[in-house]
Amino acid sequence: MSDESSRYRIGGNAILELLLGDITQQETDAIVNAANSGLLGGGGVDGAIHRAAGPTLLAECRKVRELRGPLPPGEAVATGGGALKVKYVIHTVGPIWQGGQANEANILESCYRTSLQEAHRLSCSSISFPSVSTGVYGYPVEAAAEVALRTVVHELPNFPSVRLARFLLFDQRTRDAYARAARELAETLADLEVDQQ
Ligand code: ADP
Repeated sequence: MSDESSRYRIGGNAILELLLGDITQQETDAIVNAANSGLLGGGGVDGAIHRAAGPTLLAECRKVRELRGPLPPGEAVATGGGALKVKYVIHTVGPIWQGGQANEANILESCYRTSLQEAHRLSCSSISFPSVSTGVYGYPVEAAAEVALRTVVHELPNFPSVRLARFLLFDQRTRDAYARAARELAETLADLEVDQQ
């Protein structure tokens, strides 16, 4: 059990939520996939999303891949949601952790920013993120949580159609790391406060 808060208000308008769970079960307008550049599925959350979404997602990813080639790390591209309960899957490619001196933090920041940009462009009012890069790509979860939350909190006001940003964290350790990072951020940022509701 964690006694950390899981719901925050950003700038009085938007909501940030940190939940333990499976992103494939989400009903937000969009979910984000921690994809790889090939866009044709993989392990971890990518595999889970493709399994739950069914073959139309893979077919759409193939088309995107044919049109624009591999997706570079830090960029994001949207497809439909296939059999999922979402309108869109926003695929982004996180950095592979190489020790921290290979621009990993900037690339990770860009993943969250470009995903929000896609969500706003598609008029999504809610989006769910997984913990990008902290699985197979090896990004240390405490450092990734700080980058993820700081970026989403700073960028959300720039993409005002998005009113709810939710993190779907798959295990307790990841959830605790995000909860700690959110509390620390809330201590330093006046426009991030615990939602008392
Ligand atoms: P990456 O290659 O970007 O590291 P992974 O999929 O390996 O991506 O891991 C990213 C995070 O997603 C990890 O914390 C992993 O536990 C988590 N994850 C795996 N399956 C799911 C799921 N169904 N819902 C939410 N998170 C998941």
